[in-house]
Amino acid sequence: MATLLEIIFLGTGTSGGVPNVSCLTDPAQSCHVCLSAVTDQSRKNMRKNTSLIVRFRAPDDQPGARPRNILIDCGKTFYESAIQLFPRYGIRELDAVILTHGHADACYGLDDLRQWTLNGAIQNRIDIYLASETMNTVQTTFPFLVDAINATGGGDVATFKYHIFEDNAPFSIYGLDFMPLPVHHGIYFTTSKPYYCYGFNFAGVSYISDTNRIPQDTKTRMQGKTDIFIIDCLRGKMTRKERNQTVTMAAC
Ligand SMILES: [Zn+2]
Ligand SMILES: [Zn+2]
Repeated sequence: MATLLEIIFLGTGTSGGVPNVSCLTDPAQSCHVCLSAVTDQSRKNMRKNTSLIVRFRAPDDQPGARPRNILIDCGKTFYESAIQLFPRYGIRELDAVILTHGHADACYGLDDLRQWTLNGAIQNRIDIYLASETMNTVQTTFPFLVDAINATGGGDVATFKYHIFEDNAPFSIYGLDFMPLPVHHGIYFTTSKPYYCYGFNFAGVSYISDTNRIPQDTKTRMQGKTDIFIIDCLRGKMTRKERNQTVTMAAC
C-alpha cells in the first residue's frame, strides 16, 4: 500500500487570483483585501490558482528513495508557484499530473511543464490523468501538447502521455489509488446541463476544488473514506461542525 507523506497547497485562490489588478489600480483604493495582499506583512493573502502537490511513497520504493510527487491541476499561476515552492520543498520530478477540469485555472500552466521534459531536463515525459471531456478541452486549447506535429517555431513543447479516467472507477498511480468524485461546477450556458469538475478521494483525503453542488452518489463515495475534507468555499455555507472539520479554499 502507498503511504501518504504530505500535501502541499500551491495555491488556494480564485480563478483570477488575489489581488485583483482592478482593485490595485482603483483611484478610490477601497478594497482592503487586495491592497493588503501586496504589503510585506500580509503577503500571504496573495492567492494563486488552486492546486495541490500530493507526496507519497510507493509500496515498492526503497527506504530513503525520494518522495513521489503528483500535481493536481496546473493552472495560470503554476510557474509562479513552482519557482517559489518547489526548491523550498525539494520537489523536482513530477510522477503524474491530474486535472480536475478544463478551465484556465486548472490547466493553462501545462505549457510550462516543457521545463521538465525538454531534452529530458528532469524526465522524458509526464503522465497526465484527466476525464475525456477535459481531454477534448486540452486538445482544442493546446493542440501542440497533444501532438507535437502541431507545434510551430522551434518546436519546444512538453512531452506528455495522457490517461483518461472513468468517472466511476478508481485509478492507481504508483500504488496510490484515486477515486474520482464528480461534482457540479456550474452549467453549460448553451444547454443548462451541469458542467462537471472532478475531486478525488485518496489515502483518506477528499479533495474537491471547484463545485457548487455535490451529487448524492459522490457524497456516498466519500463516506467512511474521508479523514480530511478539502473543499473550495468561495460562496459556500457550512455548519460550525463542518467548518471545524474542513480545510477550505477559494476557487473559481
Ligand atoms: Zn479586491
Ligand atoms: Zn473552473
